[in-house]
Amino acid sequence: MNIVILSRNPELYSTRRLVEEAEKRNHFVEIIDPLKCDIIIEKEKPSIYYKDRYLDYVDAIIPRIGASVTFYGCAVVRQFEEMGVFTIASSEAILRSRDKLKSLQRLSKAGIGMPKTVFTNYSRDVEEVIEHVGGTPVIIKLLEGTQGLGVVLAESKNAAESVLEAFNGLQARVIVQEFIKEAKGADLRALVVDGKVVGAMKRQGKEGEFRSNLHRGGSANIIKLNSDELKLAMNAAKVLKLPVCGVDMLQSERGPLLLEVNSTPGLEGIEAATEKNIARAIITFIERSK
Ligand code: ADP
Repeated sequence: MNIVILSRNPELYSTRRLVEEAEKRNHFVEIIDPLKCDIIIEKEKPSIYYKDRYLDYVDAIIPRIGASVTFYGCAVVRQFEEMGVFTIASSEAILRSRDKLKSLQRLSKAGIGMPKTVFTNYSRDVEEVIEHVGGTPVIIKLLEGTQGLGVVLAESKNAAESVLEAFNGLQARVIVQEFIKEAKGADLRALVVDGKVVGAMKRQGKEGEFRSNLHRGGSANIIKLNSDELKLAMNAAKVLKLPVCGVDMLQSERGPLLLEVNSTPGLEGIEAATEKNIARAIITFIERSK
């Protein structure tokens, strides 16, 4: 097969691993920078021009679109879809998963457990917002944040008020969330491929840190998920129509709670923690789908 990985950086671990596994299975793989693609829209002849040629021979794409290039990247994915090319993540599903609020709204409607969450356009009545999520401490999250940046733990009403005021002053949109103390600074990441969990790890924040992101100095270990956790991860992937994704959850007294679903999950942490060949699982999923 001719497989294209849409990625801006060929040096990234995930990109390199996908190339390696695809080549091992005798596929022809190219890494293409989506920002260097021209989208040509013409009656009955959608096409993509890259450098000096038309990409009219591609069987499948693996979008690895960074958050900062979501709009253009998804336009390129959509064009491949119009050309009948198989993609492991549709442009619509990537766009939806990038919108934390929209995703949580859809997932909650589908009956998936999550920390109680309030979207606030900053009302002066912070007290009510805090009450909605069960009192302090609360988590305040920037809707546009990634890698744990823009996630704040406010211990008191005063702290919550100051943080909300500061974000509001910057015209940043936030959600206020119930703080899940029992999670003890850890979260679970389940890697879903073809709708099934193929590997899972528990990430633990460094001491004194409630955020478990590996980018914030957290560490990761393999974990065997219980049936509720497996079910939640697979349901979330199904609801957001992402056959390949990373599902983050917190362990709580009332069972697993969904944090977010990532449409471009990194492979480095999960392959290291689980010693599983996730890149190969993604390539064989493409083979089965074609
Ligand atoms: P990002 O998308 O920036 O990684 P997350 O929503 O995943 O933001 O939050 C980062 C980390 O903060 C999580 O991995 C988790 O460890 C911690 N965290 C987030 N929300 C909560 C919460 N409601 N209760 C307890 N810990 C949380």
